[in-house]
Amino acid sequence: MVSITSNSSTFGLTSGSQKARVITEGFVAGYGFCPACGASLKQAPANSKALDFLCRACDEGFELKSKSSKIGSKIVNGAHDSLMNRVMGLHNPNLYLMQYNMREMTVQNLLVIPRYFFTPNLIEKRKALSATARRAGWVGCNILVGQVPQLGRIHYIKDEIEIKPEVVLKEWQATTFLQNSANIEGRGWLLETLNCIEKIQKDNFTLDEIYAFKPYLQQAHPNNNNIEAKLRQQLQFLRDKDVIEFLRPGHYRKKAK
Ligand SMILES: [Zn+2]
Repeated sequence: MVSITSNSSTFGLTSGSQKARVITEGFVAGYGFCPACGASLKQAPANSKALDFLCRACDEGFELKSKSSKIGSKIVNGAHDSLMNRVMGLHNPNLYLMQYNMREMTVQNLLVIPRYFFTPNLIEKRKALSATARRAGWVGCNILVGQVPQLGRIHYIKDEIEIKPEVVLKEWQATTFLQNSANIEGRGWLLETLNCIEKIQKDNFTLDEIYAFKPYLQQAHPNNNNIEAKLRQQLQFLRDKDVIEFLRPGHYRKKAK
């Protein structure tokens, strides 16, 4: 059981959501650490856009989204255009997700998703606000966190159980190959292939089982006429990066996370 402690900085705050924000940010700043290098975090200057923490040693930045209900498959985010620009420009921060229970003052889940797991197809546009709204025409978005493969969900606390810091650092290291892999489109294909592999719920799998996802991928990439070749290319890359193992032609094995 991981407890959160309230602190004096919530004094005078009357809104529940404001209070929760101050408390959860305070918790992550103290409990969290940079998953890339292990150094401690500091809170970003107030009013930093989409940035809540900075690593004290390296260049990593982090945003926190916390909620009192299950993290689920979508997280409500701010303006669609600004998130899209950040993702395309690779200036997106890493994303902390936290599930807490304010009544018991405990943390159920805390995980980080590395910034390079965000691709445009993870961003879902919401309907523009109606003409009668205060910000008429404003378009928000959701982040489809449910589509982030397990590889990109690095837990510090999982179902109330604390994960050892060395495991957090090791799991982060296992993702860094994506950071350097080509352009955003290339990363998109890799992440989709990883999702297909994870959906096959067994350790050993075949090329045919991966090809079974073709109709779905064809829909997402209508202009690509050679999905199978694209998939084989991703599998080869994932094998070179030690994410999967090649057993014999057409047969692969997932490596333990
Ligand atoms: Zn760092």
